[in-house]
Amino acid sequence: MSPRSCLRRALELAERGRGRTSPNPIVGCVVVRDGEVVAEAWHTALGEAHAERAALAAAGDRARGATLYCSLEPCCHHGRTPPCTDAILAAGIAEVHFALTDPDARVAGRGAALLRQAGVKVRRGLLAAAAARQLEAYLHHRRTGRPFVVAKWAMTLDGKLATASGDSRWVSGPQARAMLHRLRDRVDAVLVGAGTVLADDPALTCRLAEMEAVARPTRNPLRVVVDTHGRTPAAARVFTDGLAPTLLAVGESAGRVERGGTEVLRLPEREGRVDLGCLLDELGRRGVVELLCEAGGRLSGSLLREGLVQRVLAVVAPKLAGGAGPTPWDGEGVGQMADALRLGNVEVTRAGDDVILSAYVASG
Ligand SMILES: [Zn+2]
Repeated sequence: MSPRSCLRRALELAERGRGRTSPNPIVGCVVVRDGEVVAEAWHTALGEAHAERAALAAAGDRARGATLYCSLEPCCHHGRTPPCTDAILAAGIAEVHFALTDPDARVAGRGAALLRQAGVKVRRGLLAAAAARQLEAYLHHRRTGRPFVVAKWAMTLDGKLATASGDSRWVSGPQARAMLHRLRDRVDAVLVGAGTVLADDPALTCRLAEMEAVARPTRNPLRVVVDTHGRTPAAARVFTDGLAPTLLAVGESAGRVERGGTEVLRLPEREGRVDLGCLLDELGRRGVVELLCEAGGRLSGSLLREGLVQRVLAVVAPKLAGGAGPTPWDGEGVGQMADALRLGNVEVTRAGDDVILSAYVASG
């Protein structure tokens, strides 16, 4: 196996931990000796062994003199688990190849330097772009302290999230809805506003297993509700179903707000509603690395206007609703088309008859 194919395999393995490791990154690892793979592993969940340690444990004596490939630089600090560099040296690994330097302030090249000083041959950079794409949310979180925000919506071809009466079941077809549930399984949290809770009373859980065969047990993300004035009903599903934790973000001017056992987070206000930058700071501190925004046009529009969205995932259904239904960006928009928010790295795929457009907001 070539170094490239070994690293490609490490990236593939890393994906298996998706949605389970935050605030840690997903990482995959392959140990190769005499051209033969002697062990493979990935970081399965927060608190569990890192990929390198798990692979070395599986390789046992066969790790001596072997080459270790991993998608991210091995760590060299004591976190929830001891440093991987210790395990690599103890196992007698001769060579380490990794795709991407870990930007975490506690690592940031020191893992590689430590291994080199101990006489291990270190190579880095092969498949770095692919690893950076795989870890885009983690890289953003480490750089900014805030979650990587994916704004997702399903709209008709004429740009409506719902009819004028508020009916939105369903805009998209079953395949696109299954994709949404796949997303909920992999992100750390989902975000909606009070309006969505009032209109739809959503559960915001991952129900993928009800829709198709799944390779691993699914999980539910943290549910975050922005409700500046405390308008949401206490009987709403997100506060009562107990299927996942919910965090209710209210403004500092809101009166007494209680929703059973739900944690209520009181935040500063900006222009009369919860300061969304403060909310993202707090979520980042709590280890939310990737946040899926499923909000209506008011909250999504605010996030877009304030430059807080990194990626847009729009499902466009071949339907026309007409009328004055909500759009993905309600409220104040830009004055001139030249000032429109521009998206890049556009990818278009299909799910049944629906078109899925993924695009990134250029980071300024
Ligand atoms: Zn580690």
